[in-house]
Amino acid sequence: MAEFDLIARIRQRVVLRDDVVLGIGDDGALLAPPPGQLLAVTMDTLNAGVHFPPETAPADIGWKALAVNLSDLAAMGAEPAWCTLSLTLPRADTAFVDGFCDGFLALAAQHGVALVGGDTTRGPLSVSITAHGFVPAGAALRRDGARIGDEVWISGTLGDAAGALRHWQAGAPMTPALRDRLDRPTPRVALGQALRGLASACIDISDGLLADLTHICRASGVGAEIDIDALPASDALRSAFDADVRRTLQATGGDDYELCFTVPPAKCPAVQALVAQLSLPLTPVGRIVPGTGVHCPGLSPGASGYQHFV
Ligand code: ADP
Ligand code: MG
Repeated sequence: MAEFDLIARIRQRVVLRDDVVLGIGDDGALLAPPPGQLLAVTMDTLNAGVHFPPETAPADIGWKALAVNLSDLAAMGAEPAWCTLSLTLPRADTAFVDGFCDGFLALAAQHGVALVGGDTTRGPLSVSITAHGFVPAGAALRRDGARIGDEVWISGTLGDAAGALRHWQAGAPMTPALRDRLDRPTPRVALGQALRGLASACIDISDGLLADLTHICRASGVGAEIDIDALPASDALRSAFDADVRRTLQATGGDDYELCFTVPPAKCPAVQALVAQLSLPLTPVGRIVPGTGVHCPGLSPGASGYQHFV
């Protein structure tokens, strides 16, 4: 049966870990979490045409499907360990599965993540992954810890992935550097763990900074102010769009998978020190204030309609 061939192709390529007692091949996996740590569990699905353009290369789909899950673990401050994969394919397509595994397993190897099981079914192309990670009890980064006076920080640059999508939607060629950020996001796994004990709240930016920061505000019972001119942009984004469109993409564009986190003022120097340690830009872009919702003065209203996220 074709399904078993596909599973065998996947199984022969996976790299295991000592804490995988039993991986792919039985009715379930047997896993040994480290004593004293909590298991962080997250799940994300990518559907063709919704979460990626249908012509996306299989290797990029494999990379991105795992990346968005590792990004969620990063936002929890967790150390990734295991994942399971539910693959729905229109037909038993070995070339697709091989390409998918190229991207998926390249990212898994970078983070020492073992694929320990899954499901393979027929239907419209869809990829669903559950990822598991470890975090010491009490050390997880949550959405509900932001306090008035905390600074709002973000990692990396914002708007690149949304810039690529905008070109794609307009039928224009995508700038390679922007397209790479859309197809192969970098989950900020080391940063998430380094922020334990420093960040008061954290979220990964999948729906856009203003929308995602709104989730922190709601969970924490506070408001936030963002300085639109403080948002960092890549050179590629600066050359591809005029300032007004660029600011809108940075503030509201999704799919960057950077981290947005809040930091009490006393801990900001320690966060600043992580920039050199991780070779990753970290930028203060605003502050937590009394009230509700996220305010972003100066965001052009015509271009966005997202002046105030509540
Ligand atoms: P069952 O019918 O008992 O659910 P399956 O035939 O679905 O068994 O799966 C057989 C084994 O292969 C199981 O260990 C399952 O976890 C694994 N598996 C199935 N599909 C995948 C996949 N896409 N990726 C990784 N492991 C998979
Ligand atoms: Mg099954």
